[in-house]
Amino acid sequence: MNLDEAKSEICSYIDAISDELIALSHAIHDNPELGYEEYFAHEQLTQVLTDKGLEVEKGAYEIETAFEATAGSSGPVVALLCEYDALPGIGHACGHNIIAAAGIGAGLAASTLTDSFNGRLRILGTPAEEGGGGKVRMLNNGAFDSVEAVLMIHPADADLPNISSLAVQQLRATYSGKAAHAAAAPEKGINALDGAVLGYMGVAALRQHIAPDERLHGIFTNGGQKANIVPESAESTWYARSSTMDRLEVLKSRLVETLKGGAKAAGCEIQIDWINEPYAEVLDNAPILEAYMKNSESIGRIIKAADDGGVVGSTDLGNVSHIVPSIHPMVKVAPKGTAIHTVDFEECAKSQEADDGLLDSAKSLAMTVLDCWHDPTLLTEAKDFFAS
Ligand SMILES: [Zn+2]
Ligand SMILES: [Zn+2]
Repeated sequence: MNLDEAKSEICSYIDAISDELIALSHAIHDNPELGYEEYFAHEQLTQVLTDKGLEVEKGAYEIETAFEATAGSSGPVVALLCEYDALPGIGHACGHNIIAAAGIGAGLAASTLTDSFNGRLRILGTPAEEGGGGKVRMLNNGAFDSVEAVLMIHPADADLPNISSLAVQQLRATYSGKAAHAAAAPEKGINALDGAVLGYMGVAALRQHIAPDERLHGIFTNGGQKANIVPESAESTWYARSSTMDRLEVLKSRLVETLKGGAKAAGCEIQIDWINEPYAEVLDNAPILEAYMKNSESIGRIIKAADDGGVVGSTDLGNVSHIVPSIHPMVKVAPKGTAIHTVDFEECAKSQEADDGLLDSAKSLAMTVLDCWHDPTLLTEAKDFFAS
């Protein structure tokens, strides 16, 4: 079977199972689960893979809601990633239900051709993208060992080659003072909330003097217990983002010093805890991305670089992308201007447009898997891209 025939066979296969893929996407959408609690999605996804005869390991790589399905016995290993965590309060407003169903569709389609193309497939269920760093843990636990290419898609309001990604890390600042009666003896108290507020105001001033591609944003997570008690403890949590990990380190220390300044001004103590591993910026692998874009174009979905900055965000795929050639194209599932992480986007994530985007991207992903297996120079070029 030649490559073109195989690609058209793959597209027909995905059309044939389209109802099942759409049902999977909608079921996950209707049952949003937070990072590392995605038990429903984990069950649904692994069940479909098992039913289709793939070898599936639940709770893979020491994470309860991660999974791994494999197919093929020799040849290069290509990984397809499924995300399926949701956001607190706004459900699947990042559309990870679409990522999951597209990864499964592409994986099932490609798995039918492992023998003809002498390739191996690893479908990875990667939990907790929204802050938990599931892929970082899986990377550390060996999930990407001997993988030669990593493919996934992400929904958006446009068909884009990539996410304009920033490196990110989160921190928690805990301020400690001394409680006192706020009316009877305020002079005996040390106000931890003052420390947190002054720290916040300091960062608000700092924002004027950071680079345009950097972000600092935080919320208060503890502001005291009762208004007639001088707050003994207060807490804020923060995200620091910058275009590269190196610059992120500099920004992080500026953030910490500013938050400490708030504590000093209020005379209280501060403890800084980094909440999880930093997410690196995504390194988009040009050779594989080009193959993906051609495949997408072949089924009528043209991917164009954004002229307005595109979608800015961070993802734990970043860390993987510095070790294994990776792509993270964005697929249009919502009207232009509908931002991810909004209530509107959550609605769009199970619309007709979302279902179309899911099927198209499953096809493009599966066709790109075939390219990786079929043309050894593509994987060599992908690896060489790191050195370029
Ligand atoms: Zn998100
Ligand atoms: Zn997302």
